[in-house]
Amino acid sequence: MTETVPRPRGGDAGGGAATAAEPGDSLLLCAPLGIEARALRRGLLRGARGERGDGIPPFAGGSGGSSPRAGTGRSPGPIQTSVLRTGYGTARAARQAEALSRRPFGQMMIMGVGGGLTTDLTPGDLVVGTEVGAVTCPSAPLLAGELRRAGLPARTGRITTVDHLIRRAQRAVLAADGWLLVDMESAPLAAAAAGRPVAVIRAVSDTPHHPLAGIVPGGLAALRSLRAAAPVAERWAAACGTRRVLLAGPRSFCAGVDRAIEIVERVLERQGAPVYVRKQIVHNTRVVGDLTSRGAVFVDELDQVPDGATVVFSAHGVSPAVRAEASRRGLAVIDATCPLVSKVHAEARRFAADGYTVALIGHAGHEEVEGTLGEAPDSTVLVQTAADVAALRPRDPERVAYLMQTTLSVDEAAEVASALRERFPAVRGPGSDDICYATTNRQAAVRAVAAESDLVLVAGSANSSNSVRLVETCERAGTPAHLIDGASDIQLGWLTGTSTIGLTAGASAPPAVVTEIISALSGLGDISVSERTTTTESIRFGLPKEVRQ
Ligand code: SF4
Repeated sequence: MTETVPRPRGGDAGGGAATAAEPGDSLLLCAPLGIEARALRRGLLRGARGERGDGIPPFAGGSGGSSPRAGTGRSPGPIQTSVLRTGYGTARAARQAEALSRRPFGQMMIMGVGGGLTTDLTPGDLVVGTEVGAVTCPSAPLLAGELRRAGLPARTGRITTVDHLIRRAQRAVLAADGWLLVDMESAPLAAAAAGRPVAVIRAVSDTPHHPLAGIVPGGLAALRSLRAAAPVAERWAAACGTRRVLLAGPRSFCAGVDRAIEIVERVLERQGAPVYVRKQIVHNTRVVGDLTSRGAVFVDELDQVPDGATVVFSAHGVSPAVRAEASRRGLAVIDATCPLVSKVHAEARRFAADGYTVALIGHAGHEEVEGTLGEAPDSTVLVQTAADVAALRPRDPERVAYLMQTTLSVDEAAEVASALRERFPAVRGPGSDDICYATTNRQAAVRAVAAESDLVLVAGSANSSNSVRLVETCERAGTPAHLIDGASDIQLGWLTGTSTIGLTAGASAPPAVVTEIISALSGLGDISVSERTTTTESIRFGLPKEVRQ
């Protein structure tokens, strides 16, 4: 499957003049007021000297400055940055837009101060436009994340442009329409980008609580933020370029995660909020945040659940001790344990009952491992490495069995299993693979993608074992990879100089995150999206009887 995701077209101003060939290496930084342009020039200079100290390497900025160039597989070259004062007000901005549409440049960034429309904004906050008038700016989450990592208070939102100063009542009307910030120039200027990458960063100078009467202190705070943000504009420009995105297939939700989320949703529908869930239902901050907003209450232990309440056990499973405690407390339990985790629990019970010492290959502290260890605690020993195998002292070396955590790296687990077979030739393994189909398939798919990519992005949370394993799989294949919860976690420096980006998602990461990441990358230049499918999945698990109908 190949699909081209074009950059959004910026209105109708001079669309035919956008020739981003050689001028693709130049950033046009538009600032309506002279004072704003001066703040940006100072910021670029300070950035070039590395004075911000935000841990990100500086590069020479300002007019004639240079930075590494992202792009189309050609060698990195310099980026030229020009700061252009475009003039105050809509009429001047429209006249400039006319001229800009004939001017060669690669990327456009509009930076200045603006009026905050919501009461949670304060002077000095930065708003990165997702929509600016009729122009969409998909790379806004990337910029906002980069600004926040540089220590600046940044958020994304819609920016509108008006042709007159507005009063308090008008702010409320615009805020009710979903706009976060208002200015008098951005929309016509952004339209002049005419398909080239464009972004808008406005620093809040006044808000409903700090109206124009207080513009002096508010304006100073805004100018300070603009100055500090200027080097980030150059990092954004350096990351711009045309790219290929290779999707790994399969990726994202597995059958066990789908089932666990559906269980919580169904309990919420039937019983209403709150619905208690022991531990994160699946290891993903997006999923947990979404269910929390709908009334799920995630607790670490059962003593946080009121007597007689309903509690859902997470997909990672629980030990028999937890089940016994729930029963003693009179809690109504709905079990979202993945059936493939339950299978490992059953194997642990069976081997232990037959007098085996069970070597559980897994990671200490993971909830699934805790649950499996609890099935037969006197007979089960956690082994994480070949060194742990060497230290193993079973009751009877002829009666040793091994099991695995479901979300391990296939290669690493095989090494430990091989050490067990070497030391205990009679060792018994599970009836069928413990590392589940979803983990195995996602690792095979990302390996195929990594072979063709300069960089792989893995959508998933830091506590998601299978997502972390995907990063390790890429690194073992020699391709740099990063784990990200969403687009705003992508550091612009990772993208600079890359022409092919691999993209996958762990079994607990929602498909929507992948869509969000593709959209954000499309704001840096035209991208083509294709998929490498190593296998297709059709597995579904049935729901527990308590929520079946
Ligand atoms: S990753 Fe595997 S074991 Fe875990 S929930 Fe998904 S299918 Fe089940």
